[in-house]
Amino acid sequence: MKLAIISDIHSNLEALKTAIEYAAKTGVNEIVCLGDIVGYGANPNECINLIKTHCKKVLLGNHDSSAIGKNSLNTLNLYGRKAMEWTINQLSDENREYLLSLPMILIENNLTFVHSSTFEPEKWNYIMSPEDAKPLFDTLTNSLCFIGHTHVPGILCEDLKTIQFNKDHRYIINAGSVGQPRDGDPRTCFCIFDTDNWTISHIRLDYDFYNTQKKIIDAKLPKFLAQRLTSGF
Ligand code: ZN
Repeated sequence: MKLAIISDIHSNLEALKTAIEYAAKTGVNEIVCLGDIVGYGANPNECINLIKTHCKKVLLGNHDSSAIGKNSLNTLNLYGRKAMEWTINQLSDENREYLLSLPMILIENNLTFVHSSTFEPEKWNYIMSPEDAKPLFDTLTNSLCFIGHTHVPGILCEDLKTIQFNKDHRYIINAGSVGQPRDGDPRTCFCIFDTDNWTISHIRLDYDFYNTQKKIIDAKLPKFLAQRLTSGF
């Protein structure tokens, strides 16, 4: 079975469509979304509608949480805050209800899915280094934990001596960001986990970010949110 794990879409409809089309073409059986469907970009409702159609397992992200009043807007940077004020006004009642229904952690079939961390998930900690990962490993009850939040794809191993992907060891896999990559590569990013042979591939795909940028500018959202899609930072 092939599982696509997507995260941090941030209202980028073009990037989300690209990821979903790729999953359909390559025989992905299920798409799991790790949250931050909204924030920053200009298509929050359209992205939520697509996620509702294509993903049964969906986690709450910090921007989603801000959109429904659970997470203070002050925790977002200036651009994020401006975009969130706009997003809150755009959200349909139905989609607000949908975001309210999302869980923070999901554990199923020996896999853990969470937006930021299983340790104090409501604090939205950033897992960037083995040191950051330690409290997560301490609270992890199974082998694989899929996270997003940093917008930087990667894999963290509990034991740094581990050189082979091994079911007896534990790993944290960051799926990267569909809608706003921050690792210097502007292409949309997500990962595919093959549950039969235990391989994980990070996928990078070009998409029409000019259109996404135009929509951000037309919506009078901060220009920086459009510009950063060119550089991938
Ligand atoms: Zn995010």
